[in-house]
Amino acid sequence: MLKNDQLETWDRENFFHPSTHLAQFARGELPQRVLTGGSGCHIEDRDGNRLLDAFAGLYCVNVGYGRSEIAEAIAAQAKELAYYHAYVGHGTEASITLAKMILDRAPDHMSRVYFGLGGSDANETNIKLVWYYNNVLGRPEKKKIISRWRGYHGSGLMTGSLTGLEGFQKTFDLPLDRVIHTDAPYYFRRADPGQSEAQFTDQCVASLEALIEREGADTIAAFIGEPALGTGGLVPPPEGYWPAIQAVLDRNDILLIADEVVTGFGRLGSMFGSGHYGIRPDLITIAKGLTSAYAPLSGSIVSDRMWKVLEQGTDAYGPIGHGWTYSAHPIGAAAGVANLRLLDDLGLVRNAGEMGAYLKAALTEALGDHPHVGDIRGEGLLCAVEFVRDRDNRSFFDAAEKVGPTVAARLLDQGVIGRAMPQGDILGFAPPFCLTRAEADEIVAKTVRAVAAAGL
Ligand code: PMP
Repeated sequence: MLKNDQLETWDRENFFHPSTHLAQFARGELPQRVLTGGSGCHIEDRDGNRLLDAFAGLYCVNVGYGRSEIAEAIAAQAKELAYYHAYVGHGTEASITLAKMILDRAPDHMSRVYFGLGGSDANETNIKLVWYYNNVLGRPEKKKIISRWRGYHGSGLMTGSLTGLEGFQKTFDLPLDRVIHTDAPYYFRRADPGQSEAQFTDQCVASLEALIEREGADTIAAFIGEPALGTGGLVPPPEGYWPAIQAVLDRNDILLIADEVVTGFGRLGSMFGSGHYGIRPDLITIAKGLTSAYAPLSGSIVSDRMWKVLEQGTDAYGPIGHGWTYSAHPIGAAAGVANLRLLDDLGLVRNAGEMGAYLKAALTEALGDHPHVGDIRGEGLLCAVEFVRDRDNRSFFDAAEKVGPTVAARLLDQGVIGRAMPQGDILGFAPPFCLTRAEADEIVAKTVRAVAAAGL
């Protein structure tokens, strides 16, 4: 085994890490952590630290670490047939079975699954399918996509444009045209003083209607949103939000893409966020929880109504000109089948709902009255604590004070991983679904200590 200092040098000199301050990393100013193992909600590093991962990697290791059932399914598939493509009607038992298992769990009006590798490419696929759909229907002008500020939909050219977070756009010449943004459904930050949730929902709806009016419904193809905002702040929607938004979209013949990369397969305590909030999407994006990140795999679930038009399109124009080498990769598919079986066999979706309610209640009990805690919110195992300078007049800290990152660092000092969300002082939790009460209690107790250690 290589010595740690050798690996650290190689790491600094060779590895281009994503979402990292490159210069600080190269100068050795950032921590380096080499992970070696994991089990349940815990991961281990080469220095012998055992950490409670209360963010499940990047909210993706939903069934927890170290599941031998998935590892064995991957190994068996790799030995039998590691790869063949899925073009022109090819498949494997795993990919066909997985498509069936996904549709058995998806809302009834969904029809087919297109497989990709990650959430970003699945959303790129979705936008292409939406444009294709309107071309087949003879509406070449109906192409703009509405996204929300604080939405996160990926890091590609189009998906980075849809993502409504400054850090993902401003230095990359994004957004591309055809992308327009509407309000974030973020009651805590954006509601006027005294406004009820229902009134705030009305305000979001009115502002969407005004945007559609301004741009022209005949130029707008689709609206994309996460059922509950993820990376933009872990924010469940305000009361009545989705049915009201859906009604506006239906009236204007605008398709709805539910980005369920985080919420799909149980994170909110329901199989899909769409069912949880009464959304009737035309496309559903899935990734992370599909394989619990044991192998890269994503998908676009297509509705009956879109599917009919896609079929019609190929009769008119020939085979659909969209495919990845690794679409429906057999190893990813084998991981997906084993993962969805585990979710069922262990009752993990139910546990996510129950433990989510427990975690939120315990955080509220412990920190609800803290003078610098403005909001504690969550749905299922997607939970956040938002810090404020002053809770009475809801004023916020300057980003330069790094309050959120400091609390997360003090939490990590105690062996618990939470995530400082990229915009705002928000400490996020999205642990694996196998979280126990004792682990939830540990997260809460150490968060209380971290808040104090951060000087709040
Ligand atoms: N959509 C959502 C809602 C996400 O949270 C993410 C990733 N965090 C993506 C899309 C992009 O997925 P990936 O990083 O796998 O490309």
